Amino acid sequence: MITLRGILVNGAVSDVEIDADRIHRILPTARLDEPDSLLPPGLLMLPLFADAHVHLDKALPTDRWISRRTPDSLFEQFALEKALLRPMFDSQLQRARATAARMLACGTGRARVHVDVDPEIGTSHLETMQRLRDELRGQIDLEFVAFPQQGLLRSGSTDIVTAAVRMGATVIGAVDPGGVDQDINGCLDIVFRLAVDHGVEIDIHLHDSDWLGYATISRMADLTERFGLGGRVTISHAYCLGEIDITTLRHLGERLARVGIALTTSVPVDSAMPPVAVLTEEGVSIRLGTDHTGIDAWTPFGDPDLLRRGRLLAEKNRWNDDAHLRHAYRYFTAGPLTFQPGDPADFQLLPALCPEHALATVPSRQLIVRGGRPVAGALADLPSLQQAFATHATM
Ligand SMILES: [Zn+2]
Repeated sequence: MITLRGILVNGAVSDVEIDADRIHRILPTARLDEPDSLLPPGLLMLPLFADAHVHLDKALPTDRWISRRTPDSLFEQFALEKALLRPMFDSQLQRARATAARMLACGTGRARVHVDVDPEIGTSHLETMQRLRDELRGQIDLEFVAFPQQGLLRSGSTDIVTAAVRMGATVIGAVDPGGVDQDINGCLDIVFRLAVDHGVEIDIHLHDSDWLGYATISRMADLTERFGLGGRVTISHAYCLGEIDITTLRHLGERLARVGIALTTSVPVDSAMPPVAVLTEEGVSIRLGTDHTGIDAWTPFGDPDLLRRGRLLAEKNRWNDDAHLRHAYRYFTAGPLTFQPGDPADFQLLPALCPEHALATVPSRQLIVRGGRPVAGALADLPSLQQAFATHATM
């Protein structure tokens, strides 16, 4: 048993007892500054975060600058990314490992990773990501989407996607069935058929705007209903939902909620985005993904921190009051904001007075604990803390 004294949890200063990989007890205490505490005073306990959309296989190095230019079209962007990544293939694991470490340091304990597959690279990216997942076991849980970035039909990737699913990818992806593959029904028929045949989920990148976007969403709703895949289908981005009138939006939202299609948004500042408040009212499940965790071929402005992304969501929606600031956490946490005895000892500690304060100030995470073990944060390197946890682990 190990006791973390004077932690702000469930709205009170408490001692948190950890037994193996579980929270044993949470005992209110009178003192914020316990004299024998392992930790500095004033740390708030928050659950770990879940990143619903990330591309770990395509991060560029952070220690050197690669010149950038703006492509003329989406297809040129695809080619540009290929040209950038090809010569640095050998460093993929190392770059992904560095990205994952930064995610973990920001309190991310779970992530859905879209992994590129196509006839040129085959399933090589997935093989590397599976190695990374094994390395990170007990720290970050990774699930993989077989993602034909160059277009499922456009790049002739159906066989490779199938191979990736056989290798263990648990989600099938695609990108813009209309705008990229130029055949909404053709692309979606393959995706849904594969999902049914292999018992996997679906997560489609949809950037198409206007009627092309709505037609895709409408067809996905039809197929989700027909194949009984409610709760197993996600649309990432869905910018077009931010471009329609409120009546149509509520109608579409009600349909998404009814058939069980979820949405993921990265809270873009440079495009329309699904109106999260309205869609939540309609019952649509929405999660945040960082999408870009650092510098990549698409943007130099990536950021792995979901707390900062949640802050942006709150700011864009003018969620300025306590209730709304707290509400924002539902879109990116891996568990509830309150902790109970018996819960897994998965949490992060950061200097803040309450969750609302943390969302407003986005302080750096001091300690990330996963399965009752410190796995990241500045305090994880403290010899006294390491020793206490090591003793605890052997008891
Ligand atoms: Zn993406």
